[in-house]
Amino acid sequence: MNSFMPRIEISLSQIQKNTEFLSGMYMEKGVSLMGVTKAVLGEPSIAKAMIQGGVKFIADSRIENILRMKNAGISIPFVLLRTPLSQAESIVESVDISLNTEIETLKKLSYHAKAQNKTHQVIIMAELGDLREGVLLSDLSEFFRKTLSLTHIKIVGIGCNLACYGGVKPDEKNMQKLSKLVDSLENEFQMDLKIISGGNSANHEWFNSNKNVDRVNNIRLGESILLGCETVNRKTIPGLHTGAFQLVAEVIESKKKPSLPSGEIGQDAFGNIPSFQDNGIRQRVILALGNQDTMPSGLKFSDKLNFLGSSSDHIILDSPHDNIQAGDEIRASLNYGGLLSTMTSPFVRKYFTNCNGHTAI
Ligand SMILES: *Cc1c(COP(=O)(O)O)cnc(C)c1O
Repeated sequence: MNSFMPRIEISLSQIQKNTEFLSGMYMEKGVSLMGVTKAVLGEPSIAKAMIQGGVKFIADSRIENILRMKNAGISIPFVLLRTPLSQAESIVESVDISLNTEIETLKKLSYHAKAQNKTHQVIIMAELGDLREGVLLSDLSEFFRKTLSLTHIKIVGIGCNLACYGGVKPDEKNMQKLSKLVDSLENEFQMDLKIISGGNSANHEWFNSNKNVDRVNNIRLGESILLGCETVNRKTIPGLHTGAFQLVAEVIESKKKPSLPSGEIGQDAFGNIPSFQDNGIRQRVILALGNQDTMPSGLKFSDKLNFLGSSSDHIILDSPHDNIQAGDEIRASLNYGGLLSTMTSPFVRKYFTNCNGHTAI
């Protein structure tokens, strides 16, 4: 069973240790963590490792993933990171807190909360420059006023998300802006905002270089926990494991071939016209792994193997040595895109590694 390929090997103990390290670090300045599970499709064992490592919430962008974790018996406050309007009823049913930026969505959530005899908790997202989700700062006071008039909605916090679409870095300036907003909204509406959620794995540098985190008391972390890096420069965070996920694929051909295709060049499988460099005869290795299994550009291969190209079901590598044979296993580590696509593919089997060897899902 352990030799199924392609497979992704997942070290739960490394994920738990990363979470413990980050929880401890953020807690020193009073910042709690939401563990973000969307890149691993809400895999329950990974959520459990995050919870054992100290996160106070589990956050995911998809209701399906949250249901998967709840069905596996996980009980901790669940946060929905993205709010599709049409799923308001099931969001109220299954999610404790959702992030919001549209009054129409909040009305729907309030309507269904009333029908289910509940109060739905929300975090309002503020637009601080990255231009993905967020209420414009000039509209925020009016937005709060409207939201507070909804009978079955409770505002429990405010948040922002940077470095996702626009690549805008979290820094002292935009984080202070968020804190000032909190002060002024609390003052205007005579309320306490419990959760001030300042960002994601991109907030690491800001957090480390500022003694004072002002009002920020929560951060939502996915990539740092899973891959051990921050996301502004993709630098490893010292003390964290970076190899919790390993993709293993099978070599199905290994031959010396010319590096230049012969014949007239038209479009490849994906409609691109490829170009080639003549490097003479080279050892070429083909993996039974392709675009339907992973995002090949998100993989980093061991053994100095050089990525040449891929199609739906094959990855072609240039090998500096000729000792790789059909039937061998090739390992790759993953970046965020590689992890997301691999975990999403139904063709890649997931294995958890622990001290006793491998256990399949
Ligand atoms: C995905 C996501 C996160 C987590 O981002 P990482 O870079 O993986 O830490 C946090 N907040 C929101 C709103 C997200 O969509």
